[in-house]
Amino acid sequence: MSRTLFTSRQGGDLKLSHQREILRASLSLPVLHFMKQSHSDTVLVVDGTGADFECDGLITNIKGVGLAALAADCMPITFSAAQWVGVAHVGRVGFIKGIAQKTVEMMRELGAGEIKATIGPSICGDCYEVSPQMYQEISEHFPAARTSNSRHALDLQRGVTFELEEMGVVVQNLNVCTLEDPNYFSFRRGAETERQAGLISL
Ligand SMILES: [Zn+2]
Repeated sequence: MSRTLFTSRQGGDLKLSHQREILRASLSLPVLHFMKQSHSDTVLVVDGTGADFECDGLITNIKGVGLAALAADCMPITFSAAQWVGVAHVGRVGFIKGIAQKTVEMMRELGAGEIKATIGPSICGDCYEVSPQMYQEISEHFPAARTSNSRHALDLQRGVTFELEEMGVVVQNLNVCTLEDPNYFSFRRGAETERQAGLISL
């Protein structure tokens, strides 16, 4: 059995190490791994040792090793299987690079069976307006992320849901929009650089 948690503003600014430590202790986890996220397509397997992982996806099969992805409009996505868990930080760039799918692929290569994914609080398809050119480029390659041509808003939650379901992953979207819901940090709301987290552990 895995445990999944998505923090809100009440979790504090998780860019700060002492807040991360408070969170780890509150969950009674021996280890809670965070990532140095860079919108990459790098996924790493971790076992509770090491730190400063430069990646945007983590997986583990060690009980008690928590994995966390920070986000404030980007999608924190957790993955669970019988003996593996994973987490990914998926923004627009990571979505295009396929970081969520790569996390699933790596879990499967290591023997994970059925995988369930949960899309945490993130900016929704009504709110995520981009330039007309960017909208055009991305919606051409990822039709599931389209909304309306007049507004140029991308629905990355739906886009990644489609991609993961194509791989046979069971996807749950919490349908929480970080820009609309003041309980969450939102980069687009402005004047904020704080982050919340999606966490999972076995
Ligand atoms: Zn929204």
